[in-house]
Amino acid sequence: MAGLLGQRLYFYHKTRNYSDRLKVDSAKCIGCGKCADSCPMKNLRIEKGRAVAEERCTMCYRCVNICPKQAITLIGKKVIEQGTIEKYL
Ligand code: SF4
Ligand code: SF4
Repeated sequence: MAGLLGQRLYFYHKTRNYSDRLKVDSAKCIGCGKCADSCPMKNLRIEKGRAVAEERCTMCYRCVNICPKQAITLIGKKVIEQGTIEKYL
């Protein structure tokens, strides 16, 4: 019951603005295409030298973690840390 109240009530307002819509910072993006190449959903494309997101994101975070300019975010406004499996091998 405490968990239900804590998660559903206390944290509700903190998460209600979360969305599966990717945010690409076009000022940081250099159009390298690494994000588009890494996306299993083909949700990203390069248009006029910048990455553009569609609406098929499954929130796998591959693109967020691979971007050399930290230009893509899902939750929050900036990338705090990037982690790929190679980091832990
Ligand atoms: S990986 Fe980053 S810098 Fe490269 S195209 Fe994608 S968003 Fe832009
Ligand atoms: S989070 Fe995953 S599914 Fe979503 S755009 Fe990035 S690579 Fe594609």
